[in-house]
Amino acid sequence: MTDYPELHLLIDGEPVSGGGRDTEEVIDPATEEVLGTLPHATSDDLDRALEAADRGFRKWRGMSADQRSSILVKAANLLRERAETIGANLSREQGKPLTEGRGEANYSASLLEFYAGECKRLYGRTLVRPEGSRVEVQYHPVGPVAGFAPWNFPAINVMRKIGGPLAAGCSVIVKPSEETPASGIAVVQALLDAGVPGGAVQCVFGVPSTVSEHLLGSPIIRKLTFTGSTPVGKHLAKLAAEDLKIATMELGGHGPVLVFDDTDIDKAIDTMAGNKFRNAGQVCVSPTRFLVQENVFERFRDGFVERAKKLTVGNGLDKGVDIGPMANARGRDNIGRLIADATEHGANLLTGGERIGNRGFFHQPTVLSEVPTDAEIMNEEPFGPVALINPMPGEEAMIEEANRLPYGLAAYAWTDSPARRRRLAAQVEAGMLAINTGGVSAVDAPFGGVKWSGYGSEDGREGVMACMVPKTVHEG
Ligand code: NAD
Repeated sequence: MTDYPELHLLIDGEPVSGGGRDTEEVIDPATEEVLGTLPHATSDDLDRALEAADRGFRKWRGMSADQRSSILVKAANLLRERAETIGANLSREQGKPLTEGRGEANYSASLLEFYAGECKRLYGRTLVRPEGSRVEVQYHPVGPVAGFAPWNFPAINVMRKIGGPLAAGCSVIVKPSEETPASGIAVVQALLDAGVPGGAVQCVFGVPSTVSEHLLGSPIIRKLTFTGSTPVGKHLAKLAAEDLKIATMELGGHGPVLVFDDTDIDKAIDTMAGNKFRNAGQVCVSPTRFLVQENVFERFRDGFVERAKKLTVGNGLDKGVDIGPMANARGRDNIGRLIADATEHGANLLTGGERIGNRGFFHQPTVLSEVPTDAEIMNEEPFGPVALINPMPGEEAMIEEANRLPYGLAAYAWTDSPARRRRLAAQVEAGMLAINTGGVSAVDAPFGGVKWSGYGSEDGREGVMACMVPKTVHEG
């Protein structure tokens, strides 16, 4: 395996580090060893990046759609060629199993390929008036974008911040998480190597609040795109609002899963247990509150616990590991706190519940049942390997509980009734609803939430249109 790479900023196409800049250590979540040292951008670095983003925007938007598209396709090919290395470094810094790290690098390439195609499908429309005049509705890139990506999907999240804006013709300054920097740098480097101008895609790191205040305080930035927690999202949305910048906010969730008695229960268990514990539950669309019709509750609960007990937790680089460590100590500690609070409130702890070992941020896959709604974990996104399984009297109560929280990102349902599927699609408050499947994400479909889970979409046509503004041209 190759060494963990040297870390740097990428400003105006050049790697930047050293020079007495502040630094921070990147920690391997499986061993707690230091993987690398990450430089922070100075205030001058950020000003330079802003100025380059302004120039980069003009250059990139001035290229033809064909040119932009072929550069993005080339970058996607580079990501695939480099998937082995990118995936290994991603697993090291984030903790997930190697196959998932590699899969993430490849999925980022797929996202980019889709966005590359969208470059060529940006249409306006013409309204022809009977008297001969006409109105042209044109779409233009909004301008330089500031993107902030979290650590749970260090490559995909960075690509989601970059792909839509670049396809639209915008420039982007991205700040990946300081906890998983190598993946973000690798994504941006692939774009630069493929021919994206240095000012059109840049990568910075620092103290998150300092970087976001600096970038969002500049009139050069015309759009904010953020993935992360709801409290930080609300704070950044306010900063963006001060300058009326448009925003895409992909925030937390608390995925309800409605399991009815008219479905294949074994398939539901198999699919959803795999989904729940993927990436140690650190997934914004993770299924969390399992609301199970009471006549199939025991069967579902027991099957789910069985599946959870079979999972192997270990270093993501080792063979046969299903779940790596959690990405950081605060996530693991938070899970411990939420589980303790749930059992104090009377929840049944059916399996798991403890951290594993005292080195690395490992935590057991955990299942709680009969969790009262006043337990914190029923209200706060756990973002860890914990499933909450509760019996429910029927459809109405299940929908009511699904909609109880202010979140509305992903929701899941298992039912074979076509009429019920339609009712759920109409009534469940979520940006994405998966019925009889665990998949809520596809490169060509919008990804995003409602209520406190945010607004705006990434991926799909909507992910590009979210970076464009209409201009209406009236011709007499
Ligand atoms: P956090 O809210 O401190 O940070 C979340 C992300 O936002 C991090 O990548 C961080 O670098 C960034 N961030 C924080 N403050 C910022 C600021 N002022 N400006 C710009 N970026 C900023 O939380 P955390 O401890 O990293 O994760 C905990 C919670 O965050 C989770 O429980 C979950 O709810 C949420 N989260 C959600 C996602 C998601 O995919 N929606 C991803 C990661 C974390």
